[in-house]
Amino acid sequence: MTTAIVPTPLDTPCIEWTAARFSDGYGRVGDRKVHREIMKYAGHDIAGKVVRHRCDNKPCYRFNHLEIGTTADNMADMVRRCRSNAGNDHPRARLSADAVREIRHLFASFTHSEIAARYGVSQSCIDHVSTGRSWGHVHGPAIA
Ligand SMILES: [Zn+2]
Repeated sequence: MTTAIVPTPLDTPCIEWTAARFSDGYGRVGDRKVHREIMKYAGHDIAGKVVRHRCDNKPCYRFNHLEIGTTADNMADMVRRCRSNAGNDHPRARLSADAVREIRHLFASFTHSEIAARYGVSQSCIDHVSTGRSWGHVHGPAIA
């Protein structure tokens, strides 16, 4: 088995590559990334381009979850999904540094989904805040 079927918000479930992966999560065949190879096999010229996951699921290689974009597109996606490290400097960042400090305080009393609902962001966004994957640059004590 080299695949796993995983539900997503898209119309179709992800097909995840469950064989070798790169350390960053992308499916791996030899020294190549599976999702990029899929786009090449489909006839796209991806040289110098980014192959993006519409599903935000790195090991997924379902063709209709992939699209060709630019690095700027990728950054916009990351911000939209609350994974940006750009913080307040980015006009589309949804959480302020103060909100992040406040959220860190809330982890003691509320679930991630409760916090996500409160701030109007996705739960994965809150997950990333909790792990420091997002907003890791925000330091300082939690706001009570
Ligand atoms: Zn997918």
